[in-house]
Amino acid sequence: MVLKVNSAGPENSGVFRRPRLLLRPTHAEDIPGILAKVNSYPNPVRAVGADYSQTRCVGSDGGTAVDTTALDKIMEFQDGTVRAQAGVRLSQLVRALTERGLELPLTPEIGNMSVGALAVTTLPQASQSEGMAQMSACITEIKLITPQGRQMTVTERDPDLLRVLRSSFGLLGIVHEVVLRTVPLRQIKIDYQVFTLAEFAARYQELIGAPGALRLHLAPFSDRITVERRSIDRGNSTSRSGIWQIRNSVMRNVLPAFGASVGSVLAGPGLRSAVLSGVQRALNATQTRDARGVVMYAHEWMRDLPAESWKARYTYSLWAFPEQEYPRLLAEYFAFCRTHFRQHRYRCNLVHGASRLHRDRSSLFSVSHAGNMVTLEPSSGGEPGWDDFLIDFNDFASDNGATPTFNQTRALKPEHVAKAFGDRARLFRALRKRTDALNRLNNCYFSNLLGGT
Ligand SMILES: Cc1cc2nc3c(=O)[nH]c(=O)nc-3n(C[C@H](O)[C@H](O)[C@H](O)COP(=O)(O)OP(=O)(O)OC[C@H]3O[C@@H](n4cnc5c(N)ncnc54)[C@H](O)[C@@H]3O)c2cc1C
Repeated sequence: MVLKVNSAGPENSGVFRRPRLLLRPTHAEDIPGILAKVNSYPNPVRAVGADYSQTRCVGSDGGTAVDTTALDKIMEFQDGTVRAQAGVRLSQLVRALTERGLELPLTPEIGNMSVGALAVTTLPQASQSEGMAQMSACITEIKLITPQGRQMTVTERDPDLLRVLRSSFGLLGIVHEVVLRTVPLRQIKIDYQVFTLAEFAARYQELIGAPGALRLHLAPFSDRITVERRSIDRGNSTSRSGIWQIRNSVMRNVLPAFGASVGSVLAGPGLRSAVLSGVQRALNATQTRDARGVVMYAHEWMRDLPAESWKARYTYSLWAFPEQEYPRLLAEYFAFCRTHFRQHRYRCNLVHGASRLHRDRSSLFSVSHAGNMVTLEPSSGGEPGWDDFLIDFNDFASDNGATPTFNQTRALKPEHVAKAFGDRARLFRALRKRTDALNRLNNCYFSNLLGGT
């Protein structure tokens, strides 16, 4: 059954998108009819997951939004995989896996996203090794409904098609079911080291050469880089009960480093400044000394953002830079922030996140398609000046050979996309022309960035 939720778009939406119809299918079998009936369900028909993207990629202005929330069943745990419907939230899935002693090969810090979106968007994560640096690399099978309303199943037996679908953003079809790879739960040892920019540059080759996933916390205005290393603790040196004993101290002493970005999502001005200063204080306290190693499971660092997604939307943007260039780039970025402040009185004031990504060619628009990359994720409370800062920052990033995403990089321009993706964008455009002649799935956002149908 398809529920017609309203005709004006999600109430909690902070990004103008105005679908004429907002539908919530309760069964996968409802979706073919929506796509096939062109007169009843106007273009563009856009799938909506949890609606937490930083951009208008989900937008269906004047068309039909298909909210997948009601497709929320985890269907089957198999040996090494789990099968789930597209609307299942990642935190729900990760909890169910944990109960079985399992996890996904990658675990983000935010649990709100839907697994349908996970399968088709760019969600880069600090990676342990080559081949898996974006969440969609965990996907081994996708069931979708094509623009003509036909059912299609794509598995690893068709790697080229799967690669294209893994970053297709709902432009090749609406996904209703996916299979994700799983691995046994692993203990992760977390170490922190704090550097100045000069120290970071001097130690860089050693830092990227050592094993483990790297997450950086950057403070451009106080010349501080906190390097967080997440290493798989193969010795299992800490018992499970030991982990729970140290958990409180982890939350108090180490997690504020994650909290810097999470705190920034609170929208109320009073609340925000209280939280920001608290987070900044805690992070500064953490930065006064190197944190001692702690051991935890990946799901313990996952948390949920506020239920109203608009409260979390204006807080960060993301580009990925070539790994070898990163120390030079960071020096230029810190100088760029100071110059921007002098000229425009806007200070990009929150601690920025960054992740080292190994080369990952499992999706067409992977940001580490060409080789190892490190992201830079400017973060802000969203004060006046943030949007203008991003326009200048995007040109800075593009000029420095960086690669954006369609769902987490704000204020992108077509020339940024053409420069970063070149032939890959042309290939995708040609594919869309062949598969969606009636232009059922394209919206203004993508036709501006990728051009045509
Ligand atoms: C403050 C904040 C912090 C965040 N931090 C992180 C982080 O640390 N790491 C991280 O990985 N992510 C993070 N995210 C999430 C990130 O922005 C994702 O882009 C987002 O959550 C994608 O999942 P979604 O379900 O919200 O997708 P949506 O925004 O609903 O959709 C994204 C795209 O996928 C398409 N789509 C969705 N479902 C389907 C489907 N069933 N079939 C076909 N197409 C579909 C949509 O049309 C759209 O183009 C953060 C988000 C916020 C707001």
